[in-house]
Amino acid sequence: MSETIFSKIIRKEISADIVYEDDISLAFKDINPQAPVHILLIPKKPIVNLNEGTEEDKTLFGHLLLIVQKVAREVGLDNGYRVVINNGNDGGQTVNHLHLHILGKRQMTWPPG
Ligand code: AMP
Repeated sequence: MSETIFSKIIRKEISADIVYEDDISLAFKDINPQAPVHILLIPKKPIVNLNEGTEEDKTLFGHLLLIVQKVAREVGLDNGYRVVINNGNDGGQTVNHLHLHILGKRQMTWPPG
């Protein structure tokens, strides 16, 4: 896959407001927040999106969901939150590096736009 801005954030070549980091994932505040809390959780492995994940990524994908839980707890999303993965063009994906949006501290609506 081609380089994205998230690769530069992982390598700390551009700054981000990092809220969590471990060996295989990184979470930072979205630069254009759509809710009072808007965090992006990404794998350090440059997977384009869900479609590009393979059996090999099973543990990584599970890890990401558990880290969502941990980050949500740490930033005080006790009243609930939404997790969004935009996938591909119709999904509205603009950065081609898998990322989970964690949105909270406001009432979400359904259906999404
Ligand atoms: P998506 O539209 O699902 O691909 O989401 C990409 C997200 O990345 C958007 O919500 C952007 O605001 C966010 N974003 C893009 N560049 C940066 C950056 N340098 N730091 C933090 N968030 C970013």
